[in-house]
Amino acid sequence: MVLYSHSRLSTFEQCPLKFKFRYIDKLEPEIKQSIEGFLGNKVHDSLEFIYREACKGRTVELDELIEFYIQVWNKEYTNEIKVIKEELNAEHYFEKGVKFLIDYFTENYPFKDNTIAVEKQIIIDLDKENPGKYKLQGFIDRLVHNKDTNIFEIHDYKTGQIKTQEDLDKDRQLALYSLGIRESFPEAADIHLIWHFLDLNKKMSSRRTLEELNQLKQEIINLINKIESTSDFQANPGNLCKWCEFQGYCDSREE
Ligand code: SF4
Repeated sequence: MVLYSHSRLSTFEQCPLKFKFRYIDKLEPEIKQSIEGFLGNKVHDSLEFIYREACKGRTVELDELIEFYIQVWNKEYTNEIKVIKEELNAEHYFEKGVKFLIDYFTENYPFKDNTIAVEKQIIIDLDKENPGKYKLQGFIDRLVHNKDTNIFEIHDYKTGQIKTQEDLDKDRQLALYSLGIRESFPEAADIHLIWHFLDLNKKMSSRRTLEELNQLKQEIINLINKIESTSDFQANPGNLCKWCEFQGYCDSREE
């Protein structure tokens, strides 16, 4: 039984050959981590720190937050982390992270929105008649429960480029997580999907109807069926080849 994830599905959609390298052949990646991925992780760790403390009733202050970020960056940064854009260096990304955190802090202090979980694991079994066949796992960056409205909010932090509202209204990842939250909290009045685009310090949101969620379930089941019936994993070269950790194994990569 395979436990799917949004990233596993996206990898197949982006490039079936990369999917094969990563999940079937389980090749050792040449690029352990890109600097963009590392920055994203360290900023996520720092925001998680804020809300873990908030859940305990303590408010993190700005100097403490930045100190935390500096510590986790320095502790985990290695020379194996690859800076792909030649005109930039690790220092540039480190400073970007500081800016993201200062902006987020300023906008959201003192973090009293009733966060009830951080890095919350979600397991979704899409087809109850075939238990385990279409099973997915995900981790919600932060889950908020508004006690006044009984609305749950799924928060996600993005350190990459901002998306359009149209993209968010079709986004699969948070919609998928909302299926899990609906199962865990069937009495919820509604579920809101919220993205924090840290580069522009912009918060955007979306919602899904039950009909849209049922349609999403079917689309994912179809995609999993397609993945499992594929034997010829074709390359799909494009811009993202530069960030592909398997490019050295691949004759089709776009330069
Ligand atoms: S280098 Fe490009 S084409 Fe090759 S596996 Fe990676 S993403 Fe696919």
